[in-house]
Parts: sequence; structure tokens; C-alpha cells
Amino acid sequence: MSRLVTAYIALGANLGDARATVRDALLALDGLPQTRLLRASGLYRTAPWEASGPDFINAVAAVETGLDAHELLRALQALELQAGRERPYRNAPRTLDLDLLLYGDAVIDAPELTVPHPRLRERAFVLVPLAEIAPALVTADELRAVADQAIERL
Ligand code: ATP
Ligand code: CA
Ligand code: CA
Repeated sequence: MSRLVTAYIALGANLGDARATVRDALLALDGLPQTRLLRASGLYRTAPWEASGPDFINAVAAVETGLDAHELLRALQALELQAGRERPYRNAPRTLDLDLLLYGDAVIDAPELTVPHPRLRERAFVLVPLAEIAPALVTADELRAVADQAIERL
């Protein structure tokens, strides 16, 4: 039995029924092997950020998992594919985006996986829901630094 690690995952969707996609993805995280959902933020609506298309629905989840970080990333990518994700170009609108924000206190710098997620602290749509479920992980200064980015809790 491998060690259990707490990981934080950012969810985003802006095509189709984005709310349903994000809700389904939260349930799907709980269904991954050796993984259970510990906490989920509420759903947030945000304008696309360095991206195009309709508004995004975003959320952040905490899971406890026995998967290693690369296994977890592959499992997240499989869920994106199940949701119909295509990657026609960088920052294209997407049915579902699942980013691994934090994996315990691991620091990973591999070609396919960087943890902590390098843009975590720049994005209100990640910091605000993360602060909701894990206030100790986000400082007031960090929240102030992204306060100009519009975000609405649904
Ligand atoms: P951003 O990373 O800025 O949010 P994005 O989510 O739109 O951009 P994607 O097209 O979903 O980018 O992913 C591009 C690549 O990022 C993936 O193929 C994946 O291997 C890599 N990647 C690196 N670190 C991570 C991480 N922590 N979580 C998810 N994917 C990652
Ligand atoms: Ca992303
Ligand atoms: Ca991604």
C-alpha cells in the first residue's frame, strides 16, 4: 500500500454545459483508483484569461491519493479526454481542464509535469477557490495581488 498524499486540483470548463462538466468531474475524481475527494470548493464564474470563448466555470478540489504524481496527471488527462477535450491550439476553449496544483509538498520539474503549478499564484480563478478549501495555503497578499481579476462565486 503506497503512502497517501493530499493533492489539489484545479478544474475549469468553458464549453457546453460547463457547470455540469465541473460537477461531474468532481465526482469522477472521487472515482479514480486509490483516490478520494476530501473537499471541493464552490463553483466560480470567471472571464477567459489569456484565452478565448465563453466564461469559465472553475473550482478547486482536494483529494487524498495513493497514485504518484505522474499517475495522477495521467488519470486527470484521461478524465479530460472522456469529457471530450481537444487541443486545437494553445489556450483554446475547452470542455474540461484539470491541472495538478500541488501534490503534497512535492517539487517536480519534469517535461510533462511541473508542481507546484507554475501559474497557480497568478490566477484568481485558482487562488480564490483554493483559499476557500485550504485557507492556510493562500495569503491575503496573494489574494490582493489578483483582486483586479473578476470572479463570481455561483
Ligand atoms: P496552463 O498550464 O497555463 O493552465 P493549460 O492548462 O491550458 O495551461 P494544457 O494544454 O492543459 O495547458 O496542458 C499542457 C501540458 O501541461 C500538458 O500536456 C501537461 O503535460 C503539462 N503540465 C505540466 N505541469 C502540469 C500540471 N501541474 N498539471 C497539469 N498539466 C501539467
Ligand atoms: Ca490550466
Ligand atoms: Ca491543463
